[in-house]
Amino acid sequence: MTARPIVLAPDPVLKAKAKPVDRVDDGVRALMNDMLESMYASQGVGLAANQIGILQRVLVMDVAPKDEAPQPMKMANPEIIAKSEETAVNQEGCLSLPDFYADIERPARVTVRYLDENNEQKTLDADGWLAVCVQHEIDHLDGVLFVDHLSALKRGMILRKMQKLKRSQQD
Ligand SMILES: [Zn+2]
Repeated sequence: MTARPIVLAPDPVLKAKAKPVDRVDDGVRALMNDMLESMYASQGVGLAANQIGILQRVLVMDVAPKDEAPQPMKMANPEIIAKSEETAVNQEGCLSLPDFYADIERPARVTVRYLDENNEQKTLDADGWLAVCVQHEIDHLDGVLFVDHLSALKRGMILRKMQKLKRSQQD
């Protein structure tokens, strides 16, 4: 497994829509493992392939509490097939927007259909933090960042600060 660098916003690859995989083969499994490694290396709870510059519909998550055993989850071609009318507001952050957090409202519960690492179709009923995380990561695969749920004013402010941060890292 190799940890790969995380792409920081703003970047075109984070605004692009990722393409479905044909099937989960060794190549996709290797990608999933690299993504988990990259996510753990950055202390994240979720990562979408766009965030390491790859436009395939693949995501990984681990929402286990820090003091418990890891619970890695790997998904290809995830699709929300049902969502609750009830919504919940949670503070979200993102490895592509380090140190920025905002309250985002989303459906409180979702059902997700996906291919697991063995190319088997599975269904996940998610609520709580897992529901937040899986929706955030599926957004990434559609080229959507959590700041896209904010007002243009707030989003502009955060992205301008990110641009400055990226420029200062390049010097
Ligand atoms: Zn994110």
